[in-house]
Amino acid sequence: NPIIEVRGVSKVYGNDVVALDNINIAFETGHLTSLLGPSGCGKTTLLKIVAGLLQPTAGEVLVKGKPVTGPGPERAFVFQDFALMPWASVMDNAAFGLKMQGVPRSEREDKARHYIAEVGLAGFEKKYPHELSGGMRQRVGLARALAVNADVLLMDEPFSAVDEQTRRKFQEDLFRLREVEKKTFLFVTHSIEEAVYVSDRIIMLSPRPGRISEIIDPAIPKG
Ligand code: ADP
Ligand code: ADP
Repeated sequence: NPIIEVRGVSKVYGNDVVALDNINIAFETGHLTSLLGPSGCGKTTLLKIVAGLLQPTAGEVLVKGKPVTGPGPERAFVFQDFALMPWASVMDNAAFGLKMQGVPRSEREDKARHYIAEVGLAGFEKKYPHELSGGMRQRVGLARALAVNADVLLMDEPFSAVDEQTRRKFQEDLFRLREVEKKTFLFVTHSIEEAVYVSDRIIMLSPRPGRISEIIDPAIPKG
């Protein structure tokens, strides 16, 4: 059974910018799907609609069979413009989603510390975002998304500002989270190389209006 179904989704910005035109696609549990395509083809728009951050103009998204009306605890997301809270420490940023879920302080700090270490930032818990590089901030965002233990991870170019070595480590983490924890990933990338390396399936979008142009199964052994 697909965990996410996108049914007849269209999005028009203003009067005439058709960012998405009648998108139909389903995402299986434990799969990693990449959205690939040129700038402006609607990748971010589609990801935000699945996240519940944007309303489609037409159509609907179902998560576990239920229509999406907004963000929910089963979907964690990493978007460039939903950045870190500048007034909060790395620890408080990474633990934010858990706090929203009502997880008690000591438990959420243990979990957040675990994922801070996982993204290579052990020892930086008391730092503030402005004290970190762009890549390090991106990793804090990733830790925050991983810590909430959502079934679905929605990521908009999460590795764009991290170095090659960190990117490889994250890609290994993705394989493990997908295989062991059956997480479902939906992933926006510009890089065909990255998409081919990490994906079970690649959805190619074409712009004006945003439509699915091709669905590719890289069929490459993972891990
Ligand atoms: P991608 O992520 O593939 O670059 P986007 O989803 O960001 O594509 O954008 C798809 C189209 O919608 C583009 O033509 C873009 O200019 C337009 N668009 C995106 N966001 C807005 C917005 N808030 N208002 C108006 N047009 C927008
Ligand atoms: P990018 O250059 O892609 O932004 P990062 O943001 O990951 O790469 O790192 C930028 C710099 O921050 C690194 O060159 C390194 O000096 C420092 N840095 C990053 N992560 C760590 C870490 N875990 N411990 C110490 N220094 C780090």
